[in-house]
Amino acid sequence: MTAISTPLPELRAALLAWFDSAGRDLPWRLGTEGQRDPYRVWVAEILLQQTQVARGLHYYDRFLEAFPTVQALAEAPIHEVLKAWEGCGYYARARNLHRAAKLIAADGFPGNYDGWLALPGVGPYTAAAVASLAHGEARAVNDGNVRRVLARLYGQAQPTDAWIGARADALLDAARPGAWNEAVMDLGATVCTPRAPRCPECPLAAWCAALASGTPTAFPAPKVRTAVRAVEAVALLIGDGHAAVLERREGKLLGGLMGLPMLELGPDETLQGTLEKLCCRLGARSGELLGQVSHSMTHRQITLHVYAGTSDLPRQIVATAALSKLDHKALGLLRTRQQGLFAEPLMQSSSV
Ligand code: SF4
Repeated sequence: MTAISTPLPELRAALLAWFDSAGRDLPWRLGTEGQRDPYRVWVAEILLQQTQVARGLHYYDRFLEAFPTVQALAEAPIHEVLKAWEGCGYYARARNLHRAAKLIAADGFPGNYDGWLALPGVGPYTAAAVASLAHGEARAVNDGNVRRVLARLYGQAQPTDAWIGARADALLDAARPGAWNEAVMDLGATVCTPRAPRCPECPLAAWCAALASGTPTAFPAPKVRTAVRAVEAVALLIGDGHAAVLERREGKLLGGLMGLPMLELGPDETLQGTLEKLCCRLGARSGELLGQVSHSMTHRQITLHVYAGTSDLPRQIVATAALSKLDHKALGLLRTRQQGLFAEPLMQSSSV
């Protein structure tokens, strides 16, 4: 489909006028346009990499309350940072924030896109967002909202990253780059939504090729999804809801968090065989099955079979440990059974 001709000055003026009157009031948008507080913007952009705005507001407030300045974040032990991030998922973000905070506390905030891009956990999107919002640098952002708005505006069903980047750069209003980026993101989040765009209210309607086609939601075409892999694992709950044996998790998703000792079933392995291997590793004995926890993670659906266990291993206080939702659910099985609410093993579900 060919795009409707886009007179840039009019299009920019229409979107920025809409943003000035209808843009979202968000806690990281304090301060003068183009000179936002870099710490607040940076934490928000890291949080929003994998967390939606509505859900992220609570975590953002909690994190800023725990670490109101970059110095406070840099000086905190990592377990306190992970605790403040608890429940938000994708914990590599919290570990990178902590590492980057130490660099910033020593050298000061970066002053431009390249400086932000050099920090741990900061990719091109985040660097462009912080550079435009905090320093007024003319850098266009490119996220899911931007992709959808531009694909519709130009009637492009299968936009590549390079195509979106080129269009976003060409459209950017260099006089107000921070406001422009926020405006495109807000339009995608509140008006040009994935399933039900509100085209009659849209400031870009006059130039929108997807609207002219009569089927705006056909743009962009859905991406082919990666298959979700089913995983089974066993865990031992040695202790109680107050204190239990905990181990530090490894890996990208939950690495750094504490959790119940756990072992995944290998190919052709049985529950009983895996449980015995786990007991052997810990020098523990297994008891009754407490129940199952179903847990959704990126591309994985875990079913965790939680058994009571006994051993002389040291126990840790559960309330002060940074735990994933998976482990909170597993501990919840024991608490529920201790309250005598269920006589049979339980099945509970959760996601990252
Ligand atoms: S007119 Fe509709 S499809 Fe086009 S950008 Fe606006 S909301 Fe999206």
